[in-house]
Amino acid sequence: MSELDKNLKDAEKLFARFRNSTLPHFIDGKSDSGRSGKTFENLTPIDNSVIGTVAAGNAEDIDAACKAAEDAFGEWRAMPGKERKKVLHRIADGIVDNAREIALVESYDSGQPLKFMSKAAIRGAENFRFFGDKAPAARDGQSLPADEHINFSVRQPIGPVGVITPWNTPFMLSTWKIAPALAAGCTVVHKPAEWSPYTAMMLAEIAHEAGLPSGVLNCVQGLGENAGKALTEHPAIKAVAFVGESQTGSRIMKQGADTLKRVHFELGGKNPVIVFDDADLDRALDAVVFMIYSLNGERCTSSSRLLIQESIQDEFTKRLTQRVNKLKVGHPLDPNTEIGPLVHRRHFEKVSSYFEFAKEDGARIAAGGKAIDGPGNFVQPTLFSGATNSMRIAQQEIFGPVLTAIPFKDEADAIAIANDIEYGLAGYVWTNDIGRGHRIANALDAGMIWVNSENNRHLPSPFGGMKASGIGRDGGDYSFEFYMETKNICVALGSHRVPQLGR
Ligand code: NAD
Repeated sequence: MSELDKNLKDAEKLFARFRNSTLPHFIDGKSDSGRSGKTFENLTPIDNSVIGTVAAGNAEDIDAACKAAEDAFGEWRAMPGKERKKVLHRIADGIVDNAREIALVESYDSGQPLKFMSKAAIRGAENFRFFGDKAPAARDGQSLPADEHINFSVRQPIGPVGVITPWNTPFMLSTWKIAPALAAGCTVVHKPAEWSPYTAMMLAEIAHEAGLPSGVLNCVQGLGENAGKALTEHPAIKAVAFVGESQTGSRIMKQGADTLKRVHFELGGKNPVIVFDDADLDRALDAVVFMIYSLNGERCTSSSRLLIQESIQDEFTKRLTQRVNKLKVGHPLDPNTEIGPLVHRRHFEKVSSYFEFAKEDGARIAAGGKAIDGPGNFVQPTLFSGATNSMRIAQQEIFGPVLTAIPFKDEADAIAIANDIEYGLAGYVWTNDIGRGHRIANALDAGMIWVNSENNRHLPSPFGGMKASGIGRDGGDYSFEFYMETKNICVALGSHRVPQLGR
């Protein structure tokens, strides 16, 4: 039996559970079929066949989950940090034990190649371990002495929080939000994306089996405009951590205004990778290919705009085209597949529409440029060359395996093109001139810059974007700044003079 057949057989076994029954919510430590009885269908992008039905959560389901999170908050926040640490480590162990199952389900449900999803599940476990280790010190503050008083700050968890996640690498992204929230002492209501609902349920079950008290992590399935909206408006929810499109972020900010929600947004990107003629071009080529064609290009930090110095444009584009034409498109459960199907027919249509936009706007299609016939959502990995930065393929987030190459003359030109965009998530620079690397890093309006590197994640470092790419930062202590309130306590050291009125 081939590896693909074996993986398919195992995935089928895992989905058997969902074929004949509706995927429920997980509320207050139990699976919960919902209050409306309404459901929606979930399809696999491999051939658009129905995997199963999913409970369509509404405001009442969200209310039940928020009440459970509110009731559980007192006990969870009072648990000593070192005990919370143990629970988070047990969740990490549970993820590792189920890593293959998580990866298979994620791949089949979202179309992301198994090659990348097996690593994503393990990264989810690492997120739990990293923030678990930080739990005992999460409350720590600063000592700020004054002349006659001692000020000191402490942090306390903000309360129940809402976590709303997208469909690209859904499992890993949800752990990236949920692990620090739990480590801080918050309770959570999670609303996963409707196009990739399964692994959120697996996470809730793993956490429950690991001893997370009932009500601390709840998961409500459903559509953004119903369940998601209700979560952002619920008065028990003190903060909303959201990962998704910039327009949705703006909507959530409006929805949360009446209840004064604290928000953390990780939004879209159209990130430049700038390649200078003095760079190590072999390494730059590897990174350019990896950072747009891995994860189906459905990646917020993908370098979807290649800014290439004119002097090396022809040679670099030629080598790049050869690599793009050799990428292996195929079944996501085939361990050799590098590009799988796009998550949903609607997204496939959106990505495919840019093949026409490129032609209309006058770019050249150097590789790919077509949808692949068949029942699944496959497109050819695509390279547009000779583009200008004003074209739609250069300005809009396509979120597929599609790269737009734009030539530039010199350093000033590269910086101007890179910054001429509404987004500001990430930027990548390839040069062997160390001074130039620093100058560009300093000049780019983006939250994260990598010099002579692909996206290399370091959990203590800040992750997040500027401009339309987000508000706030994740990672290390930055995550606690979001999930916790800082309180200052001021104590008089002696008998300083108190103002005396009305004596
Ligand atoms: P999306 O905004 O359509 O949906 C994200 C989530 O929001 C889903 O769970 C959806 O149900 C929910 N939602 C939709 N409308 C809502 C509303 N009115 N109120 C509350 N919730 C609502 O995004 P998507 O298409 O699922 O994901 C792709 C996007 O995510 C891309 O733009 C990508 O760049 C972005 N993303 C950003 C990062 C980052 O770190 N900056 C990481 C991953 C993905």
